[in-house]
Order: sequence, then structure tokens, then C-alpha cells
Amino acid sequence: MGNGKTNECCFDQSFTSTRCRYLTISRLQAFECRGTMQQRGALSWLGSVLLGLMGLLVSGSDFQHHRYEEMVRALFAVHNECPYITRIYSIGRSVEGRQLYVLEFSDNPGIHEALEPEFKYVGNMHGNEVLGRELLIKLSQFMCEEYRAGNQRIMRLIHDTRIHILPSMNPDGYEVAAQQGPEFNGYLVGRGNARDIDLNRNFPDLNGLMYYYEKSKGKNHHLPLPDNWEQQVEPETLAVIKWMQNYNFVLSANLHGGAVVANYPFDKSRDARIRGRTIHAATADDKLFRQLARTYSYAHSWMHKGWNCGDFFDEGITNGASWYSLSKGMQDFNYLYSNCFEITLELSCDKFPAASALPREWLGNREALVSYMEEVHHGIKGLVYDENNNPIKNAEVSVLGVHHDVTTGVDGDYFRLLLPGTYTVTASAPGYLPSTSTVTVGPAEAIQFHFYLKTAPKQHIKGKPHNSKKYPSSSKASLKPGPR
Ligand SMILES: [Zn+2]
Repeated sequence: MGNGKTNECCFDQSFTSTRCRYLTISRLQAFECRGTMQQRGALSWLGSVLLGLMGLLVSGSDFQHHRYEEMVRALFAVHNECPYITRIYSIGRSVEGRQLYVLEFSDNPGIHEALEPEFKYVGNMHGNEVLGRELLIKLSQFMCEEYRAGNQRIMRLIHDTRIHILPSMNPDGYEVAAQQGPEFNGYLVGRGNARDIDLNRNFPDLNGLMYYYEKSKGKNHHLPLPDNWEQQVEPETLAVIKWMQNYNFVLSANLHGGAVVANYPFDKSRDARIRGRTIHAATADDKLFRQLARTYSYAHSWMHKGWNCGDFFDEGITNGASWYSLSKGMQDFNYLYSNCFEITLELSCDKFPAASALPREWLGNREALVSYMEEVHHGIKGLVYDENNNPIKNAEVSVLGVHHDVTTGVDGDYFRLLLPGTYTVTASAPGYLPSTSTVTVGPAEAIQFHFYLKTAPKQHIKGKPHNSKKYPSSSKASLKPGPR
């Protein structure tokens, strides 16, 4: 590695100084991190024309809109470039039969390693909101290139995280929008899937049940799906829900366009009867979600400034319901059905920007896309074991004062994102005595804390009381949907 300054920069996760920010956002960072004298000489020689060169580097021919086949080729090209740290798999097919391909980054692709968190990015859920799709293709190429170049920050991220990238959740809608192209794209053309269903209004509505349970002290996580839910959702939605069932995702973002803001749950208002008024619908993790949204907005070149596309969002973030209420969205579903915390990123005023705008958008989002992934490494994580050191899956881990539990995965590992502070944490599982401990979370890496549960005497073994409730009917979707 190079000199101390450079190393510090490459390892520094906060990137507070201008110099660090510059180094991490530049493709020349790889040269700096590798630190050969020759490259440093070249860097120095560039001197005052550096910015111009950066412009050339990022405005090259690799910035284009990718139709479906081109996108697939681009993903496989990344896999071929970085076969040891990537894997491509499909989570299902769209209505028109297009594969929903995911590119995975990991030091052990295809394998969940205990205590290594799973992260996902989902782009292009609305087929005509295309920037997220292009940014995720670019991010994939960037991570592969930087890994190969020895970028310590990217290498560390890939070694410590299993990252899943779905550049297009709605490839059929995209093709409709792309036929019109950037200049003529209507506000709604290609938004829905091939059956013109808005996928971000297509997830089972668990909010109504959650808001009922809040009052009746029912479950606060992993809410049950309605009967016959599989028949009530589109193939793309079904694929994503099955995906969420198969991977224990911890953190996620869902990339949209039509505004510039980081939107956090809940999207659905607690009281739909209040017309013409919007009210903040807080989750039990409201402060944490604000911080996650701020991580993106402040690492983004202009989102945090607040004024974008004629709207103002303080710090570039908003609670979903306080902007406008939305039912059956994917973001709330993540929080209520799984362990995953998801936010919705609105990334461009123009839903289908011209290809010439892509280099600037990439530079504006690159640091934010990487910083947000790093957020998966905060809070508390650990394993829940029984007396014989066997991991317990589906054990519940609850934090006193935060009414939202998480569960262990098949390896018995749990990940509880938390802000710095001291917490009383309890692990419990049917048939075992619960165990409680005090854990202090710092601002850096997640604290590891393992629980060992003793088998409960027979009289303690009883199921949690189940609170059954018919699913409340959802209110009608608004006639003119916003970006989300
Ligand atoms: Zn959208």
C-alpha cells in the first residue's frame, strides 16, 4: 500500500475531508490506493487538467441506456471480469418472460456466511424510472474494477458483505418506456409491468395489520401474509417476495425517479381518513431510518441541499406518509414482513434522463451508493445458541424500547441495526428461557454479541399468543401516482 495518508484515506469510512472525498470518488483512486510511483507521477503530471480528464473518463462510451439484452450482457461481462467475487442468478421471470437477474458480490458468492450481512439494491421497479437501473449497472462495473485495482474500501466491503443487485425489477415496463426514449417519455408510460400494474402498489398490505397490532399489542415484525397472497400479486412482486424469503436481507434501497429525496418508512399513513393532510407515519425505528436516509442524502452531491425538482425536502429526506400516503409499497413490506430495513431513493427529476446526463448522475450518486451499503455494518450482530452450542434459527431478538424485533437466520445469526447507544437486548425462542443483556453500540463496526439460551422447563413451553385479524381492505390508490 501507499503512504499513510493514502491508506488512511482508503480505509476511512466517513470520508469527511474534501481530499478523501475526491480520492474515493475518482477512478484514479485505484492508482492512489495501489500507490506506485509511476502512477503517482502520472497523477502529478495531470495537474490542472485533472478535472477535465475526469470528465473524459466518466463521459466515455460506457455511459448509455441499456435495453434488456444489453443490460444482461453488461451484467455477465462484470461476472466474467470478476468471476471469483460475483454470481448471477435469476429470482424469476417478468410477465413477458424476461429473467429478473441479480448480480451478487461476495468473497464467497452463493453462500451465506454466518455474521456476514446481506444487502440488496433494487432498481427500475417503475419501468420508466431508469436512472436507478443505469446506476446499478455502473455500480456493478465500478465495484468489479475497483476490487481488481486493489481499492481497499471496496475490497473490504465485498469481503464483509453479501451484496445483491437487481438492476431492473420491471424489465417489461422498461422496454415500453425505452421505445419512446428520453425525449418523448410520458409521465406514466412504462411505469407498470406488462399488465400495467404498478408494482409499488402490488405488495400485500401489512400496514393495516401493523397499525391494529400496535393498539392490541400484537406482533411487531414478520407479520403473516394474507391467504392466497400468491394469487393476488404480479409475477415480479412474487419473485421479489420469494427472494426475501430465501435471503435474510438486513438493509436495502429501492431506486426510483421523478424527485430527488431519500424516503423512509412508513409510506402508508396511519389514518387514511384524513384527507388533504399528510402526517408523519413513524416506525419503531424512526431515528435510525432518518439516519439511513441522511447517509444517502449527505453523501449525494446535491440531494441533501433540499431544493430539487421544484420541491423542498429538509436535508433531502422525507418520511413517506408525510410526503403522500402510499399503500402496498415494497418499502413498508420489507420492514413488516422481513428483517430488512428498506428506504426508497428518488434520484432524478427527469424519470428518463438523456444518456448525456448519466456521467454527472453517476458522479453525484457514487459515494452515496457505496456509503449506504456500508451502513449495513452498524448496530449489534451475533449468534443465538442453545446449551449445546447449536445455532437456533428464527429466534427473536428484541431491544427494550424499540417495538420491532428481528429474527435469526438459518445459521442462527441476527443483525440488529441500531444507532450508537446502550441497549437492553433479549433473545428468545420457543422452548428456551429468554436471555437478556446490556449492549453498548458505538459509531463504528457492529458489536458482536452472542446469546446462549437454556432449555425451558416443560411448563414454560408455550406458543406466543396469536392475534388473528382479517385483513383490512386497502384504500383506493390515488389517480395520479407520485414518483414512488
Ligand atoms: Zn417510482
